[in-house]
Amino acid sequence: MSKPLIIVVSGPGGAGKGTLVDVLLERDTALWLSRSWTTRAQREGEPDDAYVFVSRDQFHRRIGDQGFLEWTEFLGNLYGSPIPDDDIGNDIVLEIELHGAKQVKEQHPEALLVFVMPPSRQEQERRLRERGDPYRHVMQRLKKAESEEREGTALADVVIVNDDLDRAVTELVLAIGVARRSRG
Ligand code: 5GP
Repeated sequence: MSKPLIIVVSGPGGAGKGTLVDVLLERDTALWLSRSWTTRAQREGEPDDAYVFVSRDQFHRRIGDQGFLEWTEFLGNLYGSPIPDDDIGNDIVLEIELHGAKQVKEQHPEALLVFVMPPSRQEQERRLRERGDPYRHVMQRLKKAESEEREGTALADVVIVNDDLDRAVTELVLAIGVARRSRG
């Protein structure tokens, strides 16, 4: 059996990565979504299994145990992808920000790095506000998006503009198909 393909879906907050990945997982049931750890507080209405919500102490202990494939600090909170078990068998999807995506790509150059762009700054702001984050956080995320987009579009194997969800998922499915066919 070939090694699982790692698919990294990155992009600025409000690009719609989460929705895109949800639909992708419905279309391709052979994919396994990694569940990240975070020290961020759970948002109101956010499902309990959106993350493993932990304290900074717990997070640091896991760093000490070399338990993360990648981790980063993003706007004051820690986020990390636990190292997947060896026996997963399925191709793996990581939905993470750019700094983490770069770490994965350095360790696994064969990973597929997909960068998702919002259709416009206006639509991105609307999506961010809809989540109920404080205005200050929305502004921080919009500001961060500028540099993330510059860097992300240069680094990515595939750039997808998430204006039409159906088309965006189809582009992602096609890119995964190509990556699967070209792996050793
Ligand atoms: P949010 O607080 O909006 O859930 O996530 C903030 C950012 O952190 C998003 O861009 C999200 O994709 C990213 N993120 C979520 N989990 C991880 C992770 O495990 N590692 C890294 N590097 N970024 C993550």
